[in-house]
Amino acid sequence: MKTPPPYPLPYGRQHITDADVAAVVETLRSDFLTQGPRVTEFEEKFAAYVGARHAVAVSNGTAALHLCALALGVQPGQRVITTPITFAASANCVRYCGGEVHFADIDPATGLLDLQQVRKLLEAHPKGYFTGLIPVDFAGLAVDMEAARALADEFGLWIIEDACHAPGGFFVDSQGQQRYCGSGQLAELAIFSFHPVKHIATGEGGMITTNDAQLARHLRRLRTHGIERDATGLLRQDEGGWYMEMQELGYNYRISDILCALGSSQLARADEGLARRRALAAAYDAAFASLPGVGILAPGQPGHAYHLYVVLVENRRELYEFLRTKNILAQVHYVPVHRMPYYEKLGWRAGDFPHAEAYYARCLSLPLYPTLTDEEQAYVIDCVREFLAPDAA
Ligand SMILES: *Cc1c(COP(=O)(O)O)cnc(C)c1O
Repeated sequence: MKTPPPYPLPYGRQHITDADVAAVVETLRSDFLTQGPRVTEFEEKFAAYVGARHAVAVSNGTAALHLCALALGVQPGQRVITTPITFAASANCVRYCGGEVHFADIDPATGLLDLQQVRKLLEAHPKGYFTGLIPVDFAGLAVDMEAARALADEFGLWIIEDACHAPGGFFVDSQGQQRYCGSGQLAELAIFSFHPVKHIATGEGGMITTNDAQLARHLRRLRTHGIERDATGLLRQDEGGWYMEMQELGYNYRISDILCALGSSQLARADEGLARRRALAAAYDAAFASLPGVGILAPGQPGHAYHLYVVLVENRRELYEFLRTKNILAQVHYVPVHRMPYYEKLGWRAGDFPHAEAYYARCLSLPLYPTLTDEEQAYVIDCVREFLAPDAA
């Protein structure tokens, strides 16, 4: 057994190169720090990367979710379904607009929202009771959006795909086609985050993708105070070139050119990072396949984008603490959203979603990021092995 590295191994981290730094510096010296050409460039490149027609860059993933809920008209009294195993923001966006969050349980084999459970929930109420669905490509595994779309159409729901974990991820549809997360073909809207632990890092940042030009235009207006410029003079013929008007209550959810320059630079290496994540995940899969006492969440899925590498163990607390003593900062994703005190005050209880709670009791995310070296990963594997099979190590 090797000694712990003198630096901690986190569960995820950014990868910043000299080219990234140069792109930022160049923008700092340019005319536009915000609302300039780098924003549009990043939007166009990102849209092309996921195969969507439109992309709208915003200040973070949570702002992206909020704008999506606003653009789809979420209001008090409306009910939206999401998964309990996600970051709280996936649910909170509905609350920002006064809507009600409902949950359906996860599929224990994948960690994703179980569409059969969603169907049961939908069938238990009259049509029109629910208005939307927010599935999450949890850990980087793409939701079967073909099935989600069919279900949503049957019950008249819109879909916001929370694809924060899965830029570059895909599922294989019933025709054998690879369908990319956030491609705009199946969900009305999809959102991404550029927090440093995600695939593409801008520090803070987010993106919305869609194939719907109307929605894209509305999102751009909401992103900047609800203001429309009147460059074409069509809004008010009697006004001058300065004219702009606030047509609805919007926000300042813009992202700067500085960050978008970083985003475009990062995006150019996205496939490289994704390939490295998949290679590391395959090495973990191989190491743990024959190790008793450790389960692997959704191993060997084609199209998995591997934001997280999740193992399932009975004595998760002990493994978490043990790894800390080894300078390995494994993490838990996530405390189920319905168990948050805020959501418990809204009526949700322990026992409501047994699969999500059983998953939460056992899950642990191991270090996974493109700059994790083979040696560092071997050290992590050795430590997990030492914990689970101390006699063999
Ligand atoms: C990171 C994340 C968000 C929020 O993104 P921020 O950029 O941190 O606001 C939302 N949903 C999921 C699933 C995430 O992982």
